[in-house]
Amino acid sequence: MEATIAENLNAVKARIAAEAAAAGRDAAAVRLVAVSKTHGAETVAEALDAGHRVFGENRVQEAAGKWPDLRARYAGVELHLIGPLQSNKAREAVALFDVIHTLDRPKLAEALVRLRDEGVALPKLLVQVNTGCEPQKAGVLPADADAFLARCAETWKLPVAGLMCIPPVEQEPAPHFALLRKIAARHGIAELSMGMSDDYPVAVGFGATLVRVGSAIFGRRPPVAGAGQ
Ligand SMILES: *Cc1c(COP(=O)(O)O)cnc(C)c1O
Repeated sequence: MEATIAENLNAVKARIAAEAAAAGRDAAAVRLVAVSKTHGAETVAEALDAGHRVFGENRVQEAAGKWPDLRARYAGVELHLIGPLQSNKAREAVALFDVIHTLDRPKLAEALVRLRDEGVALPKLLVQVNTGCEPQKAGVLPADADAFLARCAETWKLPVAGLMCIPPVEQEPAPHFALLRKIAARHGIAELSMGMSDDYPVAVGFGATLVRVGSAIFGRRPPVAGAGQ
């Protein structure tokens, strides 16, 4: 019989705790973002019924269709945007999400600043770094990260709580996690969003504070919706 979502959640949390212990870290310093993209509300509700409250979605539109209702049914939900954000969707994203992992462009930073100037409370912000320098992938290039983070602090006065990366699929993730940690350290940035179903144990060893795990919890994603993300 296939494991239930509750069992999968427990297994992932146990693995996080074991890897944290092995690295001499406090397991409570690693938060599990359950990536529920492409899964319907009733599937997500199984994780909520199991007591989990921190979720990740990669599309604003999909989250807008799914989460207002789930938030009304379950208290204490924390929703993370882990997919690319277009600046024309910033207003909607800011209203829906508690954390945005994908700040990576001046245009988006400026859209967020405009919202803040209107009095809108901004979510916690993480800057995505394209550690593999992949042309098709979002994120600031590692060579541009220092300048972008300086502009966030000085020009835009946007507090950056963390950095996020998605290593290239065909490479060892460890050097990418190490690079992200190094960039964060030189800016005094605390949160590291790194590690997915295949590599979150490695990420915990490299200091991840947020791991984004989808298929190890919810099973394989339906093939049509969300393909390519
Ligand atoms: C889909 C996705 C994940 C989760 O991927 P799994 O391999 O299913 O764990 C994590 N991060 C991002 C940015 C994603 O788009």
